[in-house]
Amino acid sequence: MTAETTIARHRALVGLGGNLASSFGTPQETVAAAMHALKEVGRVTAQSSLYETAPVDYAVQPPFINAVVCVETALEPQSLLDALLAIERRFGRERAGSIPKGPRVLDLDLLLFDDQIIRSNGLTVPHPELARRRFVLAPLAEIAPALRHPLLGKTMAELLEALPDEGANRRGAVRRLS
Ligand code: ADP
Ligand code: MG
Repeated sequence: MTAETTIARHRALVGLGGNLASSFGTPQETVAAAMHALKEVGRVTAQSSLYETAPVDYAVQPPFINAVVCVETALEPQSLLDALLAIERRFGRERAGSIPKGPRVLDLDLLLFDDQIIRSNGLTVPHPELARRRFVLAPLAEIAPALRHPLLGKTMAELLEALPDEGANRRGAVRRLS
């Protein structure tokens, strides 16, 4: 039996974001290129539109571009996160000395991995901020409205609908581009 025949297929939802230009171009071009790069970790089965979103927590910075991609992958969660962090670095992400929630070239977050619940040192899944952020839930509900949050028991569409229309979560803070 080859390794291929025993590899489990997993469904991972990956969140993308960025608000600084990179060698791939504007933030919009950078996030689009990163969506393309995610083919390296598996088969891309769905990708959301790009969204222009207002910064959260640290307000004095350019707007973000956000999106969500669904990939079918043979990687286990930690290997997938390592691969995502490697793509971030390749795109020029600098962590050392950077402001938390501040400007960045590319952020890749593992939002959901099948219906697994993971709490290890370097990896928390579902992503803890997922259900609190319109800039994640809007693209997520666009491609996976019926997907259920394994801890909260609600679908992505329900979580989006339940968000208050205020502050960084106001509807106007998240604009679908294309
Ligand atoms: P944030 O995304 O919260 O703005 P970072 O991108 O700098 O911050 O992430 C910091 C660390 O969070 C990563 O190095 C990673 O080890 C850890 N982490 C834990 N859970 C996750 C997850 N589900 N997706 C992405 N990173 C995660
Ligand atoms: Mg991150």
